[in-house]
Amino acid sequence: MTILDTRNRPLRDLRISVTDRCNFRCSYCMPKSVFGADHAFLPKTELLTFEEIARLAGLFRALGVEKIRLTGGEPTLRKDLDVLVRMLAGIPDLDLTLTTNGSTLDALARPLAAAGLRRVTVSLDSLDDAVFGKMNDVSFPVARVLAGIDGAGAAGLTPLKINCVVRRSVNLDSVIPLAERFRGSPHVLRFIEFMDVGTTNGWRLDDVVPAGELAAMIGARWPIEPAERHYPGEVAERWRYRDGRGEIGFISSVTRAFCGACTRARLSADGRLYLCLFGVRGIDLRAPLRSGASDADLTALISTAWRARDDRYSELRGAATEGLPRVEMSFIGG
Ligand code: SAM
Ligand code: SF4
Ligand code: SF4
Repeated sequence: MTILDTRNRPLRDLRISVTDRCNFRCSYCMPKSVFGADHAFLPKTELLTFEEIARLAGLFRALGVEKIRLTGGEPTLRKDLDVLVRMLAGIPDLDLTLTTNGSTLDALARPLAAAGLRRVTVSLDSLDDAVFGKMNDVSFPVARVLAGIDGAGAAGLTPLKINCVVRRSVNLDSVIPLAERFRGSPHVLRFIEFMDVGTTNGWRLDDVVPAGELAAMIGARWPIEPAERHYPGEVAERWRYRDGRGEIGFISSVTRAFCGACTRARLSADGRLYLCLFGVRGIDLRAPLRSGASDADLTALISTAWRARDDRYSELRGAATEGLPRVEMSFIGG
């Protein structure tokens, strides 16, 4: 089944946030000034249960969703995540993936792979401990994330995607070392433009490094050429090294918005459906779930919302969107 929004975009991808908690405090996502010791995270009773998540996932699959990504916060902090993975892996013809900061992957890659996870994306913003610390505002050794990446590779979750958010003022010098490290490996490194998500990350346009600038920088060191997209709506622009040593990607959500091909919905940890990363009001699916709604009722709620969808924030970014309220990234999972 395919449902289309007002701009003829089908619903194909769903990101499910399984927790709003994280062990990192990345300045661009959960700055300590806001997510400090007294920040109130969701109590357990407000999180969707695994049964509730799996039931919704099945309904989304029936509405045309082909890919589900588990995210957060840090999804691996959700207890027994492998149990959820096993439940979702049972849904036919579903591409199931996970985005993680990699901090726990060394131990968790095997159980997650055994539960049916096939792919994983790891965020890693620098190979240098000091710069990494400036990005995530905790003292966490890069070596442990690299061990997690190796663990995921050994568990068969290859090729991995490695995501790096670039802030001109913090980790621009980490770009070439990261490219060098993953060149020639099976993993695909992707650089993400720093986005103005939420209202707390102190975003400034001059801190965004345009994907075009990064491609030129890397290409000057190792010549690269564009590669075809895998499928329409793929957010990363793919490039390959001309010497055959693999590929890299760029996610240029600021300088080259891709709303026209955006087929993605997001489910927050407390069961609200967001139709855009920059959405403000989520549609509450938890209340109907907990008050006995039938599958048909829930499906109608989701499809009515999608059919009315008109969002294209990134294309409008700038004057038209200034000052609008927004949801935080850590809440709906990037
Ligand atoms: N904790 C996990 C992680 O870091 O991979 C999953 C959740 S995190 C919100 C998902 C992705 O969003 C990460 O790759 C992160 O780098 C990215 N992200 C968070 N804030 C961002 C921002 N302001 N601009 C661009 N990407 C951002
Ligand atoms: Fe945590 Fe991921 Fe946000 Fe960093 S980007 S604070 S690791 S949720
Ligand atoms: Fe999709 Fe909204 Fe991002 Fe545009 S701004 S690509 S509609 S999530």
